[in-house]
Amino acid sequence: MHYDIAIIGTGAGGGTLLHALAGRGKRILVLERGDYVPREKANWNTRAVNVEGRYQTKETWRDREGRPLHPHTNYYVGGNTKFYGAALFRLRREDFGEIKHWGGISPAWPIEYEDLEPYYTAAERLYHVHGERGADPTDPPASAPYPHPPVSHEPRIQRLHDDWARLGLRPFHVPLGIMLDEADPRGSRCIRCETCDGHPCLVGAKSDAQVVCVDPALRDPNVTLLTNAHVTKLETGASGREVTRLVVKRGDATETYSADVVVVSAGAINSAALLLRSASDRHPRGLANGSDMVGRHYMGHVNSVLMAISRCPNPTVFQKTLGLNDFYFGSHDWEYPMGHVSFVGKLDADTLRGGAPAIAPGWSLDLMAKHSMDFWLTSEDLPDPDNRVTLDRDGNIVLAYRPNNETAHERLTAKLEQLMKQQTKCGVHGHECHEGLFSRNLFLGQRIPLAGVAHQNGTARFGHDPRASVLDVNCRAHEVDNLYVVDASFFPSSAAVNPALTIMANALRVADHLKSRLGI
Ligand SMILES: Cc1cc2nc3c(=O)[nH]c(=O)nc-3n(C[C@H](O)[C@H](O)[C@H](O)COP(=O)(O)OP(=O)(O)OC[C@H]3O[C@@H](n4cnc5c(N)ncnc54)[C@H](O)[C@@H]3O)c2cc1C
Ligand code: SF4
Repeated sequence: MHYDIAIIGTGAGGGTLLHALAGRGKRILVLERGDYVPREKANWNTRAVNVEGRYQTKETWRDREGRPLHPHTNYYVGGNTKFYGAALFRLRREDFGEIKHWGGISPAWPIEYEDLEPYYTAAERLYHVHGERGADPTDPPASAPYPHPPVSHEPRIQRLHDDWARLGLRPFHVPLGIMLDEADPRGSRCIRCETCDGHPCLVGAKSDAQVVCVDPALRDPNVTLLTNAHVTKLETGASGREVTRLVVKRGDATETYSADVVVVSAGAINSAALLLRSASDRHPRGLANGSDMVGRHYMGHVNSVLMAISRCPNPTVFQKTLGLNDFYFGSHDWEYPMGHVSFVGKLDADTLRGGAPAIAPGWSLDLMAKHSMDFWLTSEDLPDPDNRVTLDRDGNIVLAYRPNNETAHERLTAKLEQLMKQQTKCGVHGHECHEGLFSRNLFLGQRIPLAGVAHQNGTARFGHDPRASVLDVNCRAHEVDNLYVVDASFFPSSAAVNPALTIMANALRVADHLKSRLGI
């Protein structure tokens, strides 16, 4: 079957692009290797989701040493946005330029913040972002206010906010893509529950790519979505300049399709793997890989979860409302960027049990969870050509990665510890309320391990120079005229805020390019 456009993957990139191109008379084929997330009570069960990994892929990848790797990633309609925490940040304006880090250089992007700004504004509208402009000192300029007011802090988090503000810091409301209407609690689609970050939303109130983009796009009779449709190879014609066939595995059957324009959006790791698997006589190192850049510069952020355990309980239900970027670009005592501080969803005893945490003496897991504030720390991961996706002899994914810029992350962690020790607001215990910080030790020490590929990006970077990048500025492959990539692969640097809004905004930008290419 021949289509005008084929889109592979329905996550932040593919889903958003589909939404922008649907309804314009073009026949669009969408190929998604997963199915719909089943709607069931287990969606909101922390044991099923966090401990048993009910919705995670059961695929096995390998690390650099050949050890098995069980990636924490999800194959469903909507991609990883079904599970994300919906913290929807713009990159900082400076992130588009070159930045010197302790661990090396974060390279400049081939576009400027201003090129993406209108698309950020459009993506914030599309994904119902709730936020407050200007409170975050690193916020880039914006052409419009957030479409919805910020999500309020619960009392324990508000107390932390006030304490930090008293210390001269500028904490802010994290911009969130949830359909919460605090002015009308009975009418609000979102019920503000404790199982948001990492879980699918049982009531369809999270702004994920399925709910916000794919479902509405399917009202167009020209859009065909095939689920459980795993694209295994892209083939070119004799010139090598055009993808002419998509090979798709559906159950035991192999099917083939073709399209005038082919958009790969399978997530940064799977997109690189697909291009590498599509090697041919014309593209011996992998499709569009004359530069040998496909799969290289894998970045995943330097992330950790840190539990701050205090004497006061933390009865917060929806914890992910507060952020701190005061150390994003450095501080008076350290000139290099450190990164971003915010929260994960409230941890409970089941989740801690699954993560084999360091138990504080005298505390049970349940007590720890009831008294902890659970921070999420992100520092920039710098692009290293040796951190890369390759394939083993059987075509399975190998992810080789050596961490970098770790000193920045250690500095950020130390800053947070210092801040927590200066807490004064607790009327009962004073500053002793925070008697210690305990790492969650989820997997390895405090850090999120290699299997935590939630923020994967960078494996098919865009740029002006075909020798040093895979994609041109419109995210079209330098070497293949009808091939585009719109997932997180295009990032030349990872910045230190969550990536999804930038993927969405860029997909809208590429959609505008495709509209003019196709005359629609
Ligand atoms: C638990 C969790 C929390 C997160 N929280 C946040 C957050 O708060 N804020 C934020 O900005 N980001 C967050 N992220 C990251 C965010 O979800 C991703 O950055 C984003 O979804 C990536 O978009 P993408 O289009 O690159 O890929 P994905 O969303 O992963 O989409 C890729 C799609 O391609 C499909 N696919 C893969 N291979 C093939 C193939 N060969 N054939 C057909 N289909 C294929 C997959 O099934 C999937 O649907 C979180 C992620 C996780 C897992
Ligand atoms: S109801 Fe609201 S808080 Fe709960 S999962 Fe859905 S979007 Fe998240």
